[in-house]
Amino acid sequence: MGKVAVTAAVIGGAAVCAAVALVVRHQVADAMTVEMHAGLASEGGSKLKMLISYVDNLPTGAEEGVYYALDLGGTNFRVLRVQLGGTNGGVVDQEFAEVSIPPNLMVGTSQELFDYIAAELAKFVAQEGDKFQLPLGRKRELGFTFSFPVMQNSIVSGTLMRWTKGFSIDDAVGKDVVAELSSAMERQGVEMHVSALVNDTVGTLAGGRYTNKDVVVAVIMGTGTNAAYVERSQAIPKWHGPQPESGEMVINMEWGNFRSSHLPLTEYDHALDAESLNPGEQIFEKLTSGMYLGEIVRRVLCRMAEESALFGDTVPPKLRIPFILRTPDMSAMHHDTSYDLKVVGNKLKDILEISNTSLKVRKVVVELCNIVATRGARLAAAGILGILKKLGRDTLRDGETQRTVIAMDGGLYEHYTAYRECLESTLKELLDDEVAEHIFCEHSNDGSGIGAALLAASHSWYV
Ligand code: ADP
Ligand code: MG
Repeated sequence: MGKVAVTAAVIGGAAVCAAVALVVRHQVADAMTVEMHAGLASEGGSKLKMLISYVDNLPTGAEEGVYYALDLGGTNFRVLRVQLGGTNGGVVDQEFAEVSIPPNLMVGTSQELFDYIAAELAKFVAQEGDKFQLPLGRKRELGFTFSFPVMQNSIVSGTLMRWTKGFSIDDAVGKDVVAELSSAMERQGVEMHVSALVNDTVGTLAGGRYTNKDVVVAVIMGTGTNAAYVERSQAIPKWHGPQPESGEMVINMEWGNFRSSHLPLTEYDHALDAESLNPGEQIFEKLTSGMYLGEIVRRVLCRMAEESALFGDTVPPKLRIPFILRTPDMSAMHHDTSYDLKVVGNKLKDILEISNTSLKVRKVVVELCNIVATRGARLAAAGILGILKKLGRDTLRDGETQRTVIAMDGGLYEHYTAYRECLESTLKELLDDEVAEHIFCEHSNDGSGIGAALLAASHSWYV
């Protein structure tokens, strides 16, 4: 690679906004706090929907019995059953199955999607063994984790506001997703009550709390991104219902839709957004989450190929295909520790059909992955700081020893080590040292599935 290309690489990188300067991180955090207040004040008061989850009690550990969960929110959906042991019993047994959603169903009709899901659920129920004990005369109960923006009317009903993450099924928008699922279950002969409708972040919060009482925030970094947290019910001006006894309400922020003039948007982000299924929406998600990071890298590489012949005289045709470079591949390249960056070389060859890349070119690619991942992770950390500020947990009063745990989940957080480490170290950096000692990110492995089952238990039809 010649000098020109190196220069262009540097420029390309800088354009993606190398560091998200410290001051920007604080501005983003403050903007997040401001938007949280606005979203709680009135319906439609902010880009942040700050949805009321109708979950005013998190699991206590006393939940008991067999419960199902169904988790729909990305490219896969999962079905799960757990046997809960009651006080001190914990999760006695659990089984799950994961099924991928055929891409045509993500953009088809509501009935096709839900029938497919219900049919898979039917197969799973049919495999229930003796370990799981459903009391005589009871129907099975299900917690439905549905990770798209839903305006809930109760713990068991809610209207789909819009799709995200590549789903686009027009006739489902405006419908009650529990009714849609329930009719599909009926058509497929699944006898089950839906006892709780929860967002995956709310499920993760519930699952996290079950194992750690200091959990007050949940953040998911997966295909998309979102966060939920426990708010004082008095601090929700738009809530006109009765005050819950607990004095608390879980809020599903839908923070993927956060937007602020402080976000370091580049021409690549603007182009990605404009060409997406949901232009103008989910801007924070498009900067930080798994569906988009690899695509941002592709866009920058494409520009570098066009303007400074990064990969030779012509632009490799595959590089022009949107979403061809997936975030797991970006992550694999980013983590390549071999002396000749063999993984990078192979990925470029296998995915983009670019062969014989020099070590210099490979290093540029790694650096670009680093820049894009770092930016995303730092912005996500800034978002979390915004929540801590809203909760007043970004400072410690004299003698205070309150621990704050953030339950984290999602494939990006789980598998993209450099991203996770950057997110966690940035969060620590943004806090004073003494405060940082009291704040913990904890991986809540599949908390959302178990959380939904736990919430089905605490909202059982039979108690
Ligand atoms: P979803 O968000 O679809 O419910 P997950 O939480 O499992 O599901 O997240 C899946 C997403 O995580 C993928 O779309 C991908 O963006 C990201 N991901 C999965 N594996 C990796 C990996 N090895 N490195 C980076 N990102 C990954
Ligand atoms: Mg998920």
